[in-house]
Formats: sequence, structure tokens, C-alpha cells
Amino acid sequence: MTTQLRSLAPQRVPVSPLTLTTHRLLRFLAALLLFGLWATANAAAQQQEEPKLVKISDSIYLAPTTGNVYLVKTPAGNVIIDTASAAQAPVARQLLSPEIHGPVKYVILTHGHADHIGGISLWKEPGTVIIAQRNYVEFVNYVARLEGFFSPRNAVAFGRPPKPPGPWAGNFGAQIDPTVFFDEKYEFTLGGIQFQLFSTPGETPDHLTVWIPAYKAAFIGDNYAGAGIPEPMSFPNLYAIRGTKPRWALDWIKSIDTVLALKPELVLNGHGDPIIGNAEITKRLTRYRDAIQYIHDETVKGMNAGKDVYTLMQEISLPASYNLSEIFGKVSWSVRGIYDGYAGWFDANPSTMFELPPSSIYPDLVKLAGADSLVHLAVEKVDAGQPVEALHLTDVVLASDPKK
Ligand SMILES: [Zn+2]
Repeated sequence: MTTQLRSLAPQRVPVSPLTLTTHRLLRFLAALLLFGLWATANAAAQQQEEPKLVKISDSIYLAPTTGNVYLVKTPAGNVIIDTASAAQAPVARQLLSPEIHGPVKYVILTHGHADHIGGISLWKEPGTVIIAQRNYVEFVNYVARLEGFFSPRNAVAFGRPPKPPGPWAGNFGAQIDPTVFFDEKYEFTLGGIQFQLFSTPGETPDHLTVWIPAYKAAFIGDNYAGAGIPEPMSFPNLYAIRGTKPRWALDWIKSIDTVLALKPELVLNGHGDPIIGNAEITKRLTRYRDAIQYIHDETVKGMNAGKDVYTLMQEISLPASYNLSEIFGKVSWSVRGIYDGYAGWFDANPSTMFELPPSSIYPDLVKLAGADSLVHLAVEKVDAGQPVEALHLTDVVLASDPKK
């Protein structure tokens, strides 16, 4: 039995220390080539100067921390829209404090991402109503449920120390702060100012838009994602590689249409600066919506033509006329997000329906080809400007590294 099991286990092939060092270095270089620019751009986007209070109008103030926190003043009290991350929330509270006169009557959460809901407790007073779209509950529960999965990924994505997985959160592990939930629409009036809330799923399924007709102002959360980065704006993260449920493109498109139909003069984002003037808002949001629609439709067309996901990731690109960068959301990852969101994991290849991945035979390939030859080939691939192929080759060699 033991012998049988041993013979079934992947064979370890001896690899020289020099080879291991070389292929680790190669792997690093290839990864650097691939992601260097993207990571640098993201880091630059995340770096913020010392935040200062921004007066949008006599009634609307912005504390621009990691996530924007808005104060809307009314004669009968205050409304807070989003609360920043737990780390930045006290900064936002301090910035807005001089403008807070009277009670905080409402806290509205545009969506359940950590950089928008971390400061709820700083604003909550006896009688404060906290509002979220109904999908908030499942969204924050899902994040808590998979904390052990997300924690190391978030540590890399956001430069946080990884949390060790805590006890099993159960199906309903998250803290639920909102006291009012709605499905499609919710309205209230405070101090004579009407607030209308609409369900606008996009970056998350629980996204909502706050519309104040009197000011023609729409607070849209992160549905114009990456608004904090410089022009040209970026294509959105229809799939974030830290791990997300599908961000349904058609929902996102419909939600942008909902915002455009309000004919806002002011769009206030979850990050970055406001967009001012209906002409500019219409231009930017329409371009953004059309870009999502284009990538969605091209992906669906390719799927119906029987093309596989990798072919479509290579074939589909955003026409230059959209003038959108990929500094925040990558088109190829979005194509795959749409494809997998619609079709799931099976690619109709019989070899992928079983428990053993391709890497199970990598040690055999190393045995046949020799680790040094594979590393040599990887070096040639890097020199030829083919870093992805180099990464695949070093994956094969690493599978034979007992210390990996
Ligand atoms: Zn977000």
C-alpha cells in the first residue's frame, strides 16, 4: 500500500542549487516585467497627501481619506455618506467635526467595502439611522465567511499584515450595523431636503446611489471606480484578482444609466474628486458605460463563437477611442471575469474535470527535459519578451523543488 502510494506521488527530481536560484530569480524578473508598471501605478494612486477638508457647497463637505466621507448638512441635522476605513475614519471625523452642528440623523453606506464602512461607530448616536441596500448583509457576511481566504490576498493588495484565520465565522459572521435596508428605492426628507436612494449594483451587489434632487447631486460610491486616479480614467475592475464574486457587467451598465437619467450636475465618488457639470458627467459616465458594454458584448460574442477564455483574453482589447487606461482594471482580467461569471470553471477539456492539475506531471517533464534546459529556455523567453511563457516554465521547475 505504502509503496503504491509512493509510486503515485509526484516524483521529486534533484535540481542543482544554482538552477533553483536562477529560476527563482527568473521568476521574479518575469513577474516584475508583468506587474511592475501596474503595481507602481496602483501604489502611486494609493499614496495620498495629508487630507484636507473640501467644501463642495454650503451644505456638502468632503473628507478625502482612503475612502471619501461626505457630510450633508440640513437645518434638522446631518447626514453622513460613507465612513472610510477603520484606520482612516478618525481622520475623517476630525476633518468634518468643525462643520458638525446638531445630531447625526443618518449614516448611509454606499456599499460594504472595508474602506467605506470602517468608521460607523464614530458617527453613531442614539437614534442615528444607518441605511444600506439589502444585499449588504450577504456581501459583508461573505467577506467574513471567507476571511481566511481573503486575508493573505488583501495583505498583498493593500499592504496590510495578514491576519491569521480566526475561528470559523459561520454563515452569518459579520457585524451588521445598518438599521434600515431597502431593495430598489428608499426615500426620506430631513430639514426640508429630500434624499432618494436607489439600488445601483456594480462594483458590489449592494451598491446604492444617494440622490439629492435639490442639489442635483448623486453620490455613486465606487461605480465610477478608480475615480481617484488621473486622466485618462481607467477601465473598471470587473474582476479584482484579490478575489471577487462576478461583478455583473450588465448590472453595472444599468446602474450607470440610472445615474445618468437623474441628470446630475454633481457626481460625488467613493474615491477621488467630484465630477462637476452635467455635460462632463454625461461624457465621462457614458464613455465608461460604453466601454463596459463593449468588453461584455465582445466576450459574449466570442463565447457564442466557441472561443476559449484564453483566446478571448488575447483577442479582445478596448478601442483607443474610449481613452481609458488599464491602470486600475485590466481588460483581459475582466474578459475572464465575464467569461467565468457566465460559464464557471469547466473548459470542455476532459483532462480538466479531474482532481489532478497539470502541475501533477511537471516533475515528469523536468525528468524528461532536465531542469537546466528548462531554466535555459525560460531565460530565452524573457530575452525574447515572453515573460508569461518564462513563468510557465519556471512553474514546471519549481514543482520539483522540495523546499518550495
Ligand atoms: Zn469599493
